[in-house]
Amino acid sequence: MKDAQCIFCRIANGEIPSRTVYENEHFRVILDNSPATDGHALVLPKEHYATLPELPAELAGEAMQVAAKVAAMYQEKLSPDGLNLIQNNGETAGQTVHHFHIHLIPRYKGDRQLIGWKPGAPSAEHLDGVLARILG
Ligand code: 5GP
Ligand code: ZN
Repeated sequence: MKDAQCIFCRIANGEIPSRTVYENEHFRVILDNSPATDGHALVLPKEHYATLPELPAELAGEAMQVAAKVAAMYQEKLSPDGLNLIQNNGETAGQTVHHFHIHLIPRYKGDRQLIGWKPGAPSAEHLDGVLARILG
């Protein structure tokens, strides 16, 4: 399914031109237009799924294969010092475009980007409680 109102549907299916670094039957990988670093790319499925839990398992697997392919290409062409994969689901998690995508962010020494979180310090009981909720 495609959503005519969705900008990433239109980009992924070539209706809106984009700087495409890789494309296959089910995915297009484009350069982000407000990149964190040089090469910051977005892996977009051509079908519309808003978030990871909605993505069929087969496409989820393929998305990671596509990310790995582009990561290898970047290793050769851009020689980054590292790479972050980021995938936001829901506004609370920072998702601004509600079409599933994986960010590929090559990292360069001294790039001064901040990608991370503030580590918590929960008690063992709290961690056990979280585990019980997940497995219960
Ligand atoms: P999110 O915050 O949803 O995980 O990430 C959305 C990303 O899409 C942002 O990094 C933003 O810069 C990028 N983006 C939004 N609109 C466009 C667009 O029209 N073209 C491109 N190339 N990137 C876009
Ligand atoms: Zn879409």
